[in-house]
Amino acid sequence: MDIQLQKQITKLKNQHNTIILAHNYQLPIIQDIADYTGDSLELAKKATALDADNIIFCGVNFMAESAKILNPHKNIILPDRTARCPMAAMVDPPLLIELKKEHPTAQVVCYINTTAEVKALSDICCTSANGIKVVKSLNTNKIIFVPDQNLGKYFQRFTNKEIILWPGYCATHHRITVENIQYLKKSYPNAEVLVHPECRPEVIDIADYVQSTNGMLNHVKRSANTDFIIGTEKEHCYRLKTDNPTKRFYPIQSAICPNMKKITLEKVLKSLTTLEPQIKLTPRIIRQAIRPLTRMMDIKRGD
Ligand code: 13P
Ligand code: SF4
Repeated sequence: MDIQLQKQITKLKNQHNTIILAHNYQLPIIQDIADYTGDSLELAKKATALDADNIIFCGVNFMAESAKILNPHKNIILPDRTARCPMAAMVDPPLLIELKKEHPTAQVVCYINTTAEVKALSDICCTSANGIKVVKSLNTNKIIFVPDQNLGKYFQRFTNKEIILWPGYCATHHRITVENIQYLKKSYPNAEVLVHPECRPEVIDIADYVQSTNGMLNHVKRSANTDFIIGTEKEHCYRLKTDNPTKRFYPIQSAICPNMKKITLEKVLKSLTTLEPQIKLTPRIIRQAIRPLTRMMDIKRGD
């Protein structure tokens, strides 16, 4: 059944000048049919660099929206309209406007995991791959960072600038505990511990390396070690294993992002047939949100 669907997807994709992009947290079957897999920064870059009329974005809404902001003339298709990042929904634009008024000298850095409306209110965007460099690049000593408090606290370790935090968090990463890591460490004492900076500070404290999902891929390729405990969404281990078949990866079994799993082969096939559901944004939002994104694109990865 899956093989039939995969064949149909490949055929239609070629007919429609369509590219399929998939985030590292997508189901293995989706990663397998994608033209490119990557982290949120890599995929935003691919969406811009690739010459395709249609991009099927297998991920969550903020990723597809970012691709649309950067490429307003391409059709950006999110196979399930309800695939949302709950953390991106934690910033209420009117409250952010109030906070900006309270701190008129602060610049707003938004994580790429934000809505287009919040990006439009921000000075510069960042991902977990370049956030420390973005914060350091700003000519201000005061920063409002939205929405992830854990990521903001992580950036604070590398700068004397004051970072005003928003009380958002990613439930998938916030759920990862020190005990989860220690439990795996007992069985695999020689494994390196890699965690995503969306994890709690106490989890970051016991990690060997703190990285974005592509940062982890680069690290594993370079490392002489063969065993890795992976403190991020568990599907990332599929991508790590695909690229490094001789190495072993130990995921946190409870670290699942349900929204990422909403993209199925059936939905991708339907999107290829209908070129729907497309991301639609108003020209005003695109005009305002493109600046923080392009400013970020000018800053190189930090991992
Ligand atoms: P990456 O930028 O590392 O891909 O992370 C995106 C994300 O949503 C993490 O939860
Ligand atoms: Fe959002 Fe967390 Fe899912 Fe990433 S893992 S998309 S931050 S809910």
